Amino acid sequence: MHSRTFVHGFTAALAAALTLAGGQAYAAAAGSGSGDELRAARVVTYDASASAEFRAAVDRGAAIWNESVDAVELRPATAGQRANIRILADNGWPRAQTTSLGNGTVYIGRQAVNQGYDTVRISAHELGHILGLPDRKPGPCSSLMSGSSAGVPCTNPYPNAAEKAQVEGNFDAALARPAAPAVPDAVIVG
Ligand SMILES: [Zn+2]
Repeated sequence: MHSRTFVHGFTAALAAALTLAGGQAYAAAAGSGSGDELRAARVVTYDASASAEFRAAVDRGAAIWNESVDAVELRPATAGQRANIRILADNGWPRAQTTSLGNGTVYIGRQAVNQGYDTVRISAHELGHILGLPDRKPGPCSSLMSGSSAGVPCTNPYPNAAEKAQVEGNFDAALARPAAPAVPDAVIVG
């Protein structure tokens, strides 16, 4: 379900529609397996160079999203590239500052890590906010967006089916209405 066929020569209009406001996301464009319906993955870049000891967890969290959804691909920013997402380590509680769909800042807060919360689940959860998901607290461990409410023993870093579907829908909708930010400016704590 995650295989893609690269399509050459997709239209300039489509390419323009895939440009994220306020960021450098661009189309990696792809076709569906059937060949009938064009499906495009929007590339969203992230800069984890300031995520300190959480770098590997952040990369794993991004990889989990790439395994889980087709509509968006999280890709490490290249040197000197302005990334859509900045990921920082700090001593507060983990949180995400969203500016528009696919754009914002993630803080991997040591306060939760020091309490024993799993760093990959934290990373995937906060990236989920950048991908347009709200918290779903309280919630079970099977939900990624239940966050800390699932308890310290919960190490599940995978979005459930509903969370995956919502991210697919967020980016499909953004593709149809590229000028409309799907995520308001907000700081989502936890
Ligand atoms: Zn949260």
